[in-house]
Amino acid sequence: MAVIIDGKLLAKKIRADLKVECDELKKEGITPKLAVIMVGDNPASKVYVRNKSRACNEVGIEYQEYLLDGKISQEELLDLIKTLNKDKTINGILLQSPIPEHLNINEAFKTITYLKDVDGFTPSSVGKLCIGEDTFVSCTPLGIIKMFEEYNIDLNGKDVVILGRSNIVGRPLIQCCLQKNATVTICHSKTKNIEEHTKRADVIISAIGKPKFVTADMVKDGVVIIDVGINRDKNGKLVGDVDFDNVEKKASYITPVPGGVGPMTIAMLMNNVIKATKEQYKEKSIL
Ligand code: NAP
Repeated sequence: MAVIIDGKLLAKKIRADLKVECDELKKEGITPKLAVIMVGDNPASKVYVRNKSRACNEVGIEYQEYLLDGKISQEELLDLIKTLNKDKTINGILLQSPIPEHLNINEAFKTITYLKDVDGFTPSSVGKLCIGEDTFVSCTPLGIIKMFEEYNIDLNGKDVVILGRSNIVGRPLIQCCLQKNATVTICHSKTKNIEEHTKRADVIISAIGKPKFVTADMVKDGVVIIDVGINRDKNGKLVGDVDFDNVEKKASYITPVPGGVGPMTIAMLMNNVIKATKEQYKEKSIL
């Protein structure tokens, strides 16, 4: 039987610690503020954005939402980002994905100033992560690293297999795990014989978006399983990428869905807003 990694509980603890830091900033007359841009009418995005606003509320971070019409032009989107870059009352800028296909999301991310890049998606943040400098790390990978630290799961010399190579999860995770001295393999839709990789893995992190993709016969005894996937099964139930009931019997540690990686992602967003606020005032860049 595996230890269940309780992301919900850990995220609660982190939010409480961040609230203390936020209160300290307020005593100095500084109120951290996050701007969230949402383009179009995506029901899943609305749920994510609502959860982010609740977390801000709990920590004491001010929250401003910009709901843009789905037909907005690229120029209008970039203009808003440039305005927020200059707004001294805004400490963090988050562009909720997905955005409509006629818009270029990478161009939009590139326009966000590095100082307010609380999602860690700008080329500056990604580049700094790659060369091991302190930076804003994408929230889901950062949350996963915090879980390893909290549960004393040492990646030093371990075989870590990441499933999925998206810019927001898989790719930054490579760097995060490398920094912890893991040997990292990344698999994707063109990888042949994925189970050959997963079977030798000490740690599997799955971010594919397919229910029950990782089955018990694909993993070795004692494996650590981090399930990033958020999917609905045929009954509409929220499930991850991993066949939890059967894989749990072989694993040493496993994250549940819901209650695993998801709450940690939001807690790390709060962490990054506080970090951004502190750095902006320390460097006097927005004073
Ligand atoms: P994404 O951009 O769609 O990327 C999915 C990745 O999975 C791609 O690299 C893709 O390969 C790979 N893939 C798809 N089918 C595969 C297969 N059959 N075998 C091997 N690899 C396959 O997704 P994402 O944004 O990273 O999200 C992944 C999942 O995590 C989703 O369920 C999402 O909802 C969830 N998520 C959760 C959180 C959280 O906080 N819990 C945060 C972010 C995402 P190619 O590159 O070759 O296409």
